[in-house]
Amino acid sequence: MPRSFSPSWANPIKRLISITCIGLLAIMLAACSSSPSLSPSPTLSSAQPATYSNFPSTPAQTASESPGASPSHSSEPIRSEATLLAIGDIMVHMPQLPAYYNQAKKSYDLTPWFTQVKPILEQGDWVIGNLEMPIAGKDLKITGYPRFNAPKELADALVDAGVQLVSTANNHSMDRAFPGVKRTLANVRKAGLIPIGTSTSAADQQRLVIEDRNGIRMGFLAYTYGTNGIPIPADSSFAVNLIDLDVIEQDISRLREAGADVVTVSLHFGVEYQRMPNEQQTKLAHSLVKAGADIILGSHPHVVQPYEEIVVPASESEDGQSRRGIAIYSLGNFISNQTGNWKDVGLIFGIHIVKTEQPDGTSSIQMDKIIKEPTWVHILWKNQKRYYTVIPMRTALASKNIPSLTDQDYKKIKQLYSGINKHLLQLHKKS
Ligand SMILES: [Zn+2]
Repeated sequence: MPRSFSPSWANPIKRLISITCIGLLAIMLAACSSSPSLSPSPTLSSAQPATYSNFPSTPAQTASESPGASPSHSSEPIRSEATLLAIGDIMVHMPQLPAYYNQAKKSYDLTPWFTQVKPILEQGDWVIGNLEMPIAGKDLKITGYPRFNAPKELADALVDAGVQLVSTANNHSMDRAFPGVKRTLANVRKAGLIPIGTSTSAADQQRLVIEDRNGIRMGFLAYTYGTNGIPIPADSSFAVNLIDLDVIEQDISRLREAGADVVTVSLHFGVEYQRMPNEQQTKLAHSLVKAGADIILGSHPHVVQPYEEIVVPASESEDGQSRRGIAIYSLGNFISNQTGNWKDVGLIFGIHIVKTEQPDGTSSIQMDKIIKEPTWVHILWKNQKRYYTVIPMRTALASKNIPSLTDQDYKKIKQLYSGINKHLLQLHKKS
């Protein structure tokens, strides 16, 4: 079986993936107001001039040079940059819904969950999360644990918050069987989201998701360890992408051949409520970086696990060049009704990407900054209903102006924030 590092995608473009001191450059999000109107253009980084662009992106830049151009004219490399933001498990447990139901309209409005994180998510050029459940229609009954089906308004709320792509490959993909897979895909697409990891047909499974932002083409893949024992019918084996190293390697190759500059792989794996990745997770992430993946986005444990810079030395790589990648092993719960033991803490994890195209046609990709904005799901009881807000912790502590939060809440956020930041660095190698 051909390995993914065939020279076909690598030539003529020589790819040099490098990460510059991500530990040192790991940055916090700049202070931004909880109200976007007070802060017209909050930037993700205080260390960098405001070069971030919002979706939709500016037109792609190209590196075309006329062959006869003099060296002095052709010596200018072209630099493009864009930021990926990733969030974890998007869940709807039944207690989350009553406060958001409009009897007259017979519909939900779930946008209030995300008002505090929206100004941050809107700054991502690509924004991706894990949709942990079907959105299959209310005629198949809206339910929570153990077999979920979320109202379709969830997809609208995610789009409103700035989410652009969702992994739909997870252990709940089959909670409404294959019809649920098809309906979910139709519903999320109708809302404007790009689904990854589940499919309506064998041909659909072969589709390549490559999203160009500012001239940087990012390819997306998604896989799950399983579907909670709910069988995927043999005649619809394409419905849910299952983790299989050979298959993922081939998919990475196909993305590269199709021109992806960066490959991001969402993996639904690990053990629930474990705060550290197990060996299976770390081994798989390393294998995938070796096979050409640049970014691994983990989900499923429902708690945040640390991130890691993965280095594959030249001696171990397929093409004789060293490779680097970034794996966040679990992004935790972004929204859910789970509380305690870090289950209500999630993470907006960002990677700033720079593409440099040389006049000779070669290009390189750098992932030069990590962005970390831990989140906390605040639940307010009022009139026997529960009201949920995803709180960006660093921003909340800086502004202290979120009306629903008490002094006690801020105290708790401070503790959680300090704890999760330390935890995120547990796999950092001391240099
Ligand atoms: Zn899961």
